[in-house]
Amino acid sequence: MAGHGIPRSHPRYWSLVLRERLVEAWRQGIVVPEGLIAHGRGECFDYLIGEETQWFAREAVRAAAAALLLAEHPVISVNGNAAALAAEGLVRLADLLGAPLEVNLFYRTEERARRIGELLRRHGARRVLGVDDATARIPGLPHPRGMVSPEGILRADVVLVALEDGDRTEALRRMGKTVIAIDLNPLSRTARMADITIVDNIVRAVPLLAETVQELKEKPREELENVLRGYDNDRVLAGALRFIKERLEKLAEEGIAMDPRRQ
Ligand code: ATP
Ligand code: MG
Repeated sequence: MAGHGIPRSHPRYWSLVLRERLVEAWRQGIVVPEGLIAHGRGECFDYLIGEETQWFAREAVRAAAAALLLAEHPVISVNGNAAALAAEGLVRLADLLGAPLEVNLFYRTEERARRIGELLRRHGARRVLGVDDATARIPGLPHPRGMVSPEGILRADVVLVALEDGDRTEALRRMGKTVIAIDLNPLSRTARMADITIVDNIVRAVPLLAETVQELKEKPREELENVLRGYDNDRVLAGALRFIKERLEKLAEEGIAMDPRRQ
């Protein structure tokens, strides 16, 4: 990241870099103001999980990789925030899976869809749907937030969504699709509605998912099916809540106040 002027020595350097990246993407018409607010909610939950990938996310990532590899028509849904924060990893993931990326926007304008498509292509994306072919509708969702590509999400059996809205996740589930969600908030409707929920920051989850797909790619089908069979999303979400609770209790016991004069 050039030119943001954030000193590396700042204790919250990475968090500031991500904010700057989103603001820049907003300037470029890729992210909407609502997306900036959504990121703030995500940051809050990232703070609570210690801003690191925890066991519940690793477990979900493994199951997600298995589901994507077993899928007949996997699709990777991309919105403004996901494109701004994780374009490179999402393109790599699509490549590894031979799956299309689909621009899919809650606040859809053709202009923004086009810009996100261009951004993905600049990162080397081969197949980008949902830019000028979002002609189908997800039943139950009002236009335009229900518009999808007939070649992509409409016919997909497994869909990866990130920072998604609960209503849309529910509609996808109702269509019989397996939904994998990346969402820092284990309490969101999306997190609770998805088949597999990766409670982690998209900037960490997507590279880890790509790595895991690479690792599991050569495994026999039965092994992948076993990973999926052994996965329980309720257990993983409960694990995330318990992790946060225990972490907060520990912090409270240890004493959390900071005094710069005494260090
Ligand atoms: P829902 O509609 O699922 O109940 P919501 O209305 O609380 O969720 P939305 O704005 O619809 O929130 O969805 C955005 C979601 O993305 C939030 O749950 C937020 O925690 C999550 N989120 C924001 N930034 C990130 C990030 N960088 N990585 C992962 N998740 C994030
Ligand atoms: Mg919502």
